[in-house]
Amino acid sequence: MVLGTRLAVFAPLPRLALIVVDEEHDPSFKQQDGVRYNARDVAVWRARQRNVPIVLGSATPALETLTHAQRGRYGWLRLTQRAVAPAGLPRVSFTSNRDTNALEGMSAALIAAIERRLERGEQSLVFINRRGFAPSLLCGSCGWQAGCARCSARLVVHRDTRTLRCHHCGHAERLPTACPDCGNVDLCPVGHGTQRLERALVARFPAARIERIDRDSTRRKGAFAAVRDGVHAGTVDILVGTQMLAKGHDFPRLTLVGVLGADNALYSADFRATERLAALLFQVSGRAGRRELPGEVIVQTDFPTHPLARALADHDYDRFAEVLLAERRAAMLPPFAHLALLVAEAPRRDAVDAFLAAASDAGRAAVREHALDVEVFAPVPAALARRAGLERGQVLAQAPERSAMQRFLPHWRRAIESLPGRRVRFALDVDPLGFA
Ligand SMILES: [Zn+2]
Ligand SMILES: [Zn+2]
Repeated sequence: MVLGTRLAVFAPLPRLALIVVDEEHDPSFKQQDGVRYNARDVAVWRARQRNVPIVLGSATPALETLTHAQRGRYGWLRLTQRAVAPAGLPRVSFTSNRDTNALEGMSAALIAAIERRLERGEQSLVFINRRGFAPSLLCGSCGWQAGCARCSARLVVHRDTRTLRCHHCGHAERLPTACPDCGNVDLCPVGHGTQRLERALVARFPAARIERIDRDSTRRKGAFAAVRDGVHAGTVDILVGTQMLAKGHDFPRLTLVGVLGADNALYSADFRATERLAALLFQVSGRAGRRELPGEVIVQTDFPTHPLARALADHDYDRFAEVLLAERRAAMLPPFAHLALLVAEAPRRDAVDAFLAAASDAGRAAVREHALDVEVFAPVPAALARRAGLERGQVLAQAPERSAMQRFLPHWRRAIESLPGRRVRFALDVDPLGFA
């Protein structure tokens, strides 16, 4: 038996008889640079080549996988009971982000629910997918905001190290004591990250044992395991953390999960953001009340009537997937279309733009010449238009049938490779997980 992450899919196994891809929806199965591949899709291909069974496991299957199952291309085995009986499903409720009695972004209802857990000797998890203290630093008098000099991104306030950090390129600088533009010394951290929630909870519940789990707190080897063991042993009352906490852990006395910042995905331009949010919310709410104690999930959102919220409350992933699939069908996005994304970056914006415009034209010429059912769009800047000093952009190609895309890609690649533009770095991402 070979156990491994995505690279394990290439292990040479002469007597291979079964492949299991657990949490098959997880985006980490896709290698995003160098040789790009999706280990789940490679595994499916390998199983077919070897004529052996493959199991794709997930409580929140990827929409592609779900569609294959619905169309009968994959068999569909359903687990209708939770792993440990008689755990019931947690009760899900929603509170507003605009609660005027909120404590550092945590609604009064959530704080009261945490307090009840402390009284009963049960554990709470407060989940926010944002590390650091606050996602930006603002000057209230002139409107200056701390930005990264090398990226089109704001710098994140890290209070413990008294730094401003860029989460895209790794740049770090000292936390300024005054606004560099107007000299105002009253700079204001805006928004909430794990460190800020931790601090607020420590102040509100001084007797509680509170631990934070994120990439910063677990940098030291063994730190994550120590906290996990603490939760099991009952020496932790409140956990604050990022998606590192979302999956795979079974904490018997954890009966409350609070979710903050969920709405960010609903505002995202990435067409897979909502699907990912759904997977995360279903996973995270699966952490509450896994044993005899009933669980409760409190999600802070401005959209309590969103189909995702309703489906989460009813523990009905299928229904939510149907809503998403209808949207994808209307927009001609996967799994109803096949995409290839040309992403390019260069130190100069005009070089990227010229390269991508020529690549887009070359793509359309190839489509005409070979009479293919493929649409090649005009170039657009990446959502993060500048990263680590490089300007970034992209061109999308879309086809209703995979066969058309497969015929198109070699022509397009040849045309792109013969384009001038020596300082432009590019990659052609087939079946991208999202836009750049
Ligand atoms: Zn200022
Ligand atoms: Zn940066």
